Amino acid sequence: MIGELVNDRCYFCNGRLEHKLATIPFVKNDRVVVIKNVPAQVCMQCGEPIMSSPVARNVDTLLKQAYCLNSEISVLAYVELLGQPV
Ligand SMILES: [Zn+2]
Repeated sequence: MIGELVNDRCYFCNGRLEHKLATIPFVKNDRVVVIKNVPAQVCMQCGEPIMSSPVARNVDTLLKQAYCLNSEISVLAYVELLGQPV
C-alpha cells in the first residue's frame, strides 16, 4: 500500500505519477480508516498512491489515533502534523 518514491515512476507498475490529493482507505483488524486530502504521487496507470516519507509518517500517526477511536469506520482529513507553530 505504501511505497517509497524512488523516481517519477510508479514503484509497482512503472506507470506515470501525478501529484494529487488522494483519498486513501486503510484496513486493519476489521477497522476501516479513510484519510482524505493526502498529498501523494498517484499512479496514472494503477492508481496506487505513493507518499513521501514525512507524509507517510503523518498518516501513520493519524491512523494510530483513528484506531484508538473504537469505531468501525473513520473518515478523517489529512493534517500536517510536523512543523506546526508551537
Ligand atoms: Zn502503478
